Amino acid sequence: MPASRRRSSLTRRFAVVSLIGMAVVGAALVLVASSQMRSQAVRDGTSLAATVAAYASAATPADAYVTGVLPEQDQAAVSAATAGFSSALVELRLWSQDGRLMYSSRDAGTGLPHSERFDHVLLGGEPVAAVQPDVRGVEDATPTTEKQTVLDVYVPVHAADIRGTVTGVDAEEVVGAAEVMLDHTATQETLTSTVRTVALVVAGSLVVLWLLLFRIVHSTSRRLRTAALENARLAMLDSLTGLPNRRLLSEQMQRAVQESGQDGSRVGLILLDIDRFKDINDTLGHDHGDALLELVAARLRNALRDDDVVARLGGDEFAILLPDVRSVANAERLARRVRGLFAAPFELGDLALHVDTSVGVACLPDHADDPSSLMRTADIAMYAAKHQRSGVSVYSPDADDSSPARLVLMGELHAALEEHESARAAGDARGGPGDALGVPPVAQLEMHYQPKIELASQRTVGLEALMRWRHPTRGLVGPGTFVPLAEQSGLIHRLTSFALDSAVRQLAQWSADGRAVPVAVNLSAHDVADPAVVDTIVELLARHRVRPALLEVEITETALVADRSRVVPVLERLGELGVRVAIDDFGTGTTSISQLRDLPVDELKIDRVFVADLGDGGREGSEVVVQAMVDLAHSFGLRVVAEGVEDEGTARTLQRLGVDQAQGYLWARPAPPEEVRPPGDTARGDHPSLHPIG
Ligand code: C2E
Ligand code: CA
Ligand code: CA
Repeated sequence: MPASRRRSSLTRRFAVVSLIGMAVVGAALVLVASSQMRSQAVRDGTSLAATVAAYASAATPADAYVTGVLPEQDQAAVSAATAGFSSALVELRLWSQDGRLMYSSRDAGTGLPHSERFDHVLLGGEPVAAVQPDVRGVEDATPTTEKQTVLDVYVPVHAADIRGTVTGVDAEEVVGAAEVMLDHTATQETLTSTVRTVALVVAGSLVVLWLLLFRIVHSTSRRLRTAALENARLAMLDSLTGLPNRRLLSEQMQRAVQESGQDGSRVGLILLDIDRFKDINDTLGHDHGDALLELVAARLRNALRDDDVVARLGGDEFAILLPDVRSVANAERLARRVRGLFAAPFELGDLALHVDTSVGVACLPDHADDPSSLMRTADIAMYAAKHQRSGVSVYSPDADDSSPARLVLMGELHAALEEHESARAAGDARGGPGDALGVPPVAQLEMHYQPKIELASQRTVGLEALMRWRHPTRGLVGPGTFVPLAEQSGLIHRLTSFALDSAVRQLAQWSADGRAVPVAVNLSAHDVADPAVVDTIVELLARHRVRPALLEVEITETALVADRSRVVPVLERLGELGVRVAIDDFGTGTTSISQLRDLPVDELKIDRVFVADLGDGGREGSEVVVQAMVDLAHSFGLRVVAEGVEDEGTARTLQRLGVDQAQGYLWARPAPPEEVRPPGDTARGDHPSLHPIG
């Protein structure tokens, strides 16, 4: 509010300053006008007085000025000469040069001139006028209530003006003065009333002008203020959805954080983004993308309490601020509800679009102690949700790159790996090729194996190697936690070498037992962009005398497209070698099957999310999607494997759709090698030898 108060005080200041300014200007105007009028009136009076004086002087003889006495008949002549002015004339006096009164129209026998003015006239030779309130020496005047104002003008009498000549005196010389007193009352009154009128008119027009100006200034400042407010509002709102934007959200977050914590309540932040939104935008067009964002915004807004702030952070990212949430569990429950909002399809014209979302949750003070770290932790949780494809994820320091816990974990992973590497080096130096598994005394890293089942025969036809970390204090840590960590820290190549080494040694042992099936090892995106991985594989297979056909590698679809120009040569070399290549997690990225046509790829693994959709309560239409994938993959000669099969119904559906192989808890969980009993080529023909483990 201080800004608007400042604006309103600005208007007020303008009002005061302009009012004072106008008053000063108005007063000056009136003053100048009135003084101009006054001096004009005095000038007019003075010229009349000069005329009167001229008449009077013409009637006076020269010697009167010398003697200072005007004889009676001359006085009568003067009276007669000036009789025409009697209405304007109050009194006429004639003074000799030495200040003697020669004549007064009022018969005042004696008197003295106003010395200052008289001297001035004698010396300067110009008339001098003064306005006076009353008349000097009018004792006999009828007493009257009205005050008379007189213009008293001393007019010089030059030698040339008078009758006859004064000997020895120049014509231009002043020989005396005529004092003409004119009635100035009416003029004065007219003047006063004129000045009053002028003052009124000036004041009136200035007031009108001021009001006009004030109105303009006031309304302009109001318009500016509303425009500024509107701009501020727009700057705080997302233009597409009308939801608060990042700026407004962070303001609200700041406030919520300040107000929180008094009664054990928390501030929760839920972040979500739309999975595969880029694809939707690219395939359906930006109009549909925008429309989808609007629908999502409306669905979120309608489902939440008024206190909760739903904001769009940009792109396909939304945030929900829970200014007052009881517990982390409550925030998580709400996050699940938010995710549930995406279950129903979004209607875009006649298109019913199914979209999924990854939701991250963080709470203050549990995971952060200020708004910006709350934003950061919620973001990390969202990426964890996306990475683990768990849908909803609450912040955990394990997934946080910069958290101390994560740095410690990274160090521990490094140490564990080193342990294995030196044990293997020692083992290789001692024994012959392929005879030892090279396990250190305290083995922390191990490979587990999960069978791939041929759906038609229900036989185990392969295994997938999945890494596990038996952490001394944390227990069994899944690759979802430490593989990304290794990818970020550069440990991944050594981790992959460890996986390949373990798998190849295991294959050598199983081969020696005569019961080997192909084993697939997962490669990270970082591995397949580097030809060194092929050298490692070649070396391992040779050292342990394992047929290349027994080794498979799985690379994710995203790894394939991320750096295609470097990945393709690696895949080609693997193909030439006879190592089979599977595309993992197919369907979660942006690759189309036809893009795989020219690549040395043998197998397509349909991602778990599509498989899960086939079960009860899954989405309709996913059968069609899987069917299309299978048909296309088969037409390119690719084998199709379904991941994450957990129930009989799904297995039957997959078989009906033509899927070749499947993996999942239905048959077996990943297990250590001693618990896995891969069927021999010939032995145990009766299979399925593997029953669900665990
Ligand atoms: P992935 O390659 O897609 O592996 C399949 C994952 O699904 C495994 O998780 C497996 O335990 C799990 N799974 C198998 N059957 C089912 C089922 O019926 N239901 C459900 N819900 N899950 C099932 P895991 O072992 O936690 O591995 C996670 C990811 O970590 C793997 O996904 C893979 O991308 C990566 N990974 C695992 N081992 C390695 C490795 O040695 N090297 C590299 N680079 N990545 C690995
Ligand atoms: Ca895999
Ligand atoms: Ca997979």
